[in-house]
Amino acid sequence: MGDYTTLALILDKEIIGESDSEIHFFTEKLGRVTARAIGARKILSKLSAHLEPNSVSFIRLVEKKGFLVTDAIKEKRLNFSFEELLVLKNGTAEFEKDQFLWEKINEEKLSVSDMLNHFGFNPKFSSCSFCGEEEPEFFYFKKHEYICKRCVFNFGIQGEEMVSVKKNL
Ligand SMILES: [Zn+2]
Repeated sequence: MGDYTTLALILDKEIIGESDSEIHFFTEKLGRVTARAIGARKILSKLSAHLEPNSVSFIRLVEKKGFLVTDAIKEKRLNFSFEELLVLKNGTAEFEKDQFLWEKINEEKLSVSDMLNHFGFNPKFSSCSFCGEEEPEFFYFKKHEYICKRCVFNFGIQGEEMVSVKKNL
C-alpha cells in the first residue's frame, strides 16, 4: 500500500536467515513498526550501519507483505539503556503514533518509570496483579500489569517478557 519516510529510533535488530534482518523501530509518524531489511549482504551491510540499536535514523519503509526498510541514514546516536529500549519495543502497541514518547526520545529523557506512568501504570501505587503483593519488582508486557518476583518465578516468565521496575525508579 504505502511508502513512508520518517525519523525512527532503532530499538532492536534481529538476524533472520542468511542476509536478512528484522528491525524494530519507534518512529515519529507511525509509532512502533517492525520491518525487514532484505537483500544481498553487501547492500544490507551498507544499510546496517544506519540500523544499529540506539540510533535515530531517517528511514524509508515500503509496505509489501509487511514492511521493508529500503533506505536509512543515521542522524544521531543516543544512549538509552537496554531496559528503556525494551519497554518501547515490548510495551507499546504497533502503529500507534505517540507524540509524548517521541518528544521524550528527542529530549533524551525517557525513563522506564516515565513510560509506565504514560501507559497509566504508576509504579508507586502498584501491586502484583496475580497475588496482590505490594511493591512488585517487575512489569509484565504481555498483560500490561505489575508482577512480583515470586509470581515471575512461579509462572516461568522470563527475559524480555518483563522489565525490572525497582532499579529504574
Ligand atoms: Zn505476585
